[in-house]
Amino acid sequence: MEYMNQFLKRRFLDQIAVMFGREAKKPTAISPEAQTIHLYKRGNRDLIAEKLHARAHAVHANKWRNRRWAVLIIANLMFTFSFWFDIQILEGALTASRFIGFHLIDLNSALQVMLAHKHIIVNLVIGTGTVFVLWLILGGRTFCSWVCPYHLLAEWAEKIHLDLVKKKLLTDQNIDRRLRTLSWIVFAVLALATGYTVFESISPTGIISRALIYGPGLALLWVLALLVFEIFFSRRAWCRYACPIGLTYGVVGIFSPLRIKYTLDGCFHEGDCRKVCLVPHVLDTVIKGRAVATEIPIGPDCTRCGLCVDTCPTGSLKFDVKGLSKLL
Ligand code: SF4
Ligand code: SF4
Repeated sequence: MEYMNQFLKRRFLDQIAVMFGREAKKPTAISPEAQTIHLYKRGNRDLIAEKLHARAHAVHANKWRNRRWAVLIIANLMFTFSFWFDIQILEGALTASRFIGFHLIDLNSALQVMLAHKHIIVNLVIGTGTVFVLWLILGGRTFCSWVCPYHLLAEWAEKIHLDLVKKKLLTDQNIDRRLRTLSWIVFAVLALATGYTVFESISPTGIISRALIYGPGLALLWVLALLVFEIFFSRRAWCRYACPIGLTYGVVGIFSPLRIKYTLDGCFHEGDCRKVCLVPHVLDTVIKGRAVATEIPIGPDCTRCGLCVDTCPTGSLKFDVKGLSKLL
């Protein structure tokens, strides 16, 4: 077990580098157990036929997607109704709120505010601590796919984009993923230099959240421009290449016990999961011959959206809790 963990530890560190923008690489060392399975799969026609059968009969239930959409809509509407009906249990918006008297502050917003004010604000640290623990337990970027209102709009825009690509009316343009890390640094430096939380004024997460509560404003045109860009130029561009919130929560996800687990044995490597994933670089391990161990936790940039779990025809991707399984 200990020697197996060495392969997983190396991959884990690799996945952190991948989150910051490095390209996923072929592994240099694979455990003997995983090598045996890779060898067995090569040229085993019965196995391929069996998996093809499983794929053809797989029912994509959208179970996790439906649950996620319900949670996301309810979470955002709670703020809206709370404001409309003056229910003082929950006050504020997604970026900063008060729940039964407890301050809840989005980690990225708190960071921006403290950089702009150039000192540590105790109230913010308390509010951020609560949110940090919550997202630490729940998976880090779980915030993105289960709560962020822009994620839902971007998912719908992505469907239009993929339809247009399928009809060969446009091609998807990939952008360098290191841009997101650069964007994080640029907005941190801007907050420090100007004394304003510049990112907050252009963050679609905050704009939509405030629009849902206080009513629409001109800032929604910026959100529309982002969606148009994603439909006609680059798939999920904001979340993939620009949003610093995603990176901040990705770092939280490094320490989170909740993740997606990949099992090599049943995987057919047809790659349906990578096609639906917002961050396919975290699923490089499903590419034939790449898995370094028989079971692998998916990296911290994963949003725990569950689309791959819904899509995988062989059940090789599942939600997992560290400590409840034998994995790292
Ligand atoms: S990356 Fe940003 S915009 Fe995208 S889902 Fe996460 S918080 Fe929302
Ligand atoms: S790996 Fe799966 S759960 Fe994670 S972001 Fe991709 S599709 Fe969603």
